[in-house]
Amino acid sequence: MSYQIIDGKAVSGQIKEECRIKAEEYRKKGTEITLAVVQVGNDPASDVYVRNKKRACEECGIRSLSYELPEETGEEQLLELIGKLNADKTVNGILVQLPLPDQIDEKKVIQAIDTKKDVDGFHPVNAGALCTGEKGFVPCTPAGIIQLLKRSSVEIAGKECVVIGRSNIVGKPTALLLLAENGTVTVCHSKTADLKEVARRADILVAAVGKPKFITADYVKEGAVVIDVGIHRNENGKLCGDVDFDSVAPKCSAITPVPGGVGPMTIAMLMSNCIGSVDVE
Ligand code: NAP
Repeated sequence: MSYQIIDGKAVSGQIKEECRIKAEEYRKKGTEITLAVVQVGNDPASDVYVRNKKRACEECGIRSLSYELPEETGEEQLLELIGKLNADKTVNGILVQLPLPDQIDEKKVIQAIDTKKDVDGFHPVNAGALCTGEKGFVPCTPAGIIQLLKRSSVEIAGKECVVIGRSNIVGKPTALLLLAENGTVTVCHSKTADLKEVARRADILVAAVGKPKFITADYVKEGAVVIDVGIHRNENGKLCGDVDFDSVAPKCSAITPVPGGVGPMTIAMLMSNCIGSVDVE
């Protein structure tokens, strides 16, 4: 079967360009959209993510403020900084790069962020809004998955959607968004019985398992659309996803590659949330 590669790099480029135009319009009206990026410690993966987020801000004409705190930063110190950023009217969005060092309670930190500046969409108020269909910030990776599908003309309404993974940042919000788009959604996890059989029902299969090349051809129905959320680096530094691309792609009608699929969408949607943060009352 010939398959379409869903090009996350191209789609994320379109979204960032739309953000750049909007940021420019706001600037002309006197508002400089500002994202505060907070990093604690020097986790190498976080360093890369933070650098990429700041670069995307530059591309989109969004001002980024950088707060790099040492590894031994205490919880109180971080909460104090968040309090200051919450109160600062020139700051529209606050992003705290996760994971945080062990001495800091991530939940407490997420809950301290003003819900109107929560551009990651991790605060329980925003998670609740997503659940009840109210307006709020949507986590960036799930929002990116929906944009990838829509902008690749993949119909979601009425389709069997299977999401493998139920994390708060990927699996659950992705399932809720697919449901909001009128998909018929099944969420799988490590205790799911007959995972292959359930996965094979999917017209749209989202793999957010966190295990390299876990999804092989026998998890996939002929003609399915496969979205690979996983990011893994092998011992030679090569990236791969949760999907075994070489065996799965020939069975699909469309598939996202790794790299160049969901990854770039996450940052594009962060930019989009920053633009959206200006109008949140
Ligand atoms: P996570 O918190 O580790 O969640 C993994 C989920 O997969 C859990 O719900 C787990 O089930 C389920 N699972 C694990 N083993 C399974 C198995 N054998 N069968 C069925 N389900 C299984 O991971 P995450 O944060 O959601 O991330 C998932 C992947 O996406 C990772 O590779 C991560 O690096 C990547 N990611 C990419 C982006 C991006 O921008 N592209 C952003 C975020 C994450 P239980 O709940 O039962 O444990």
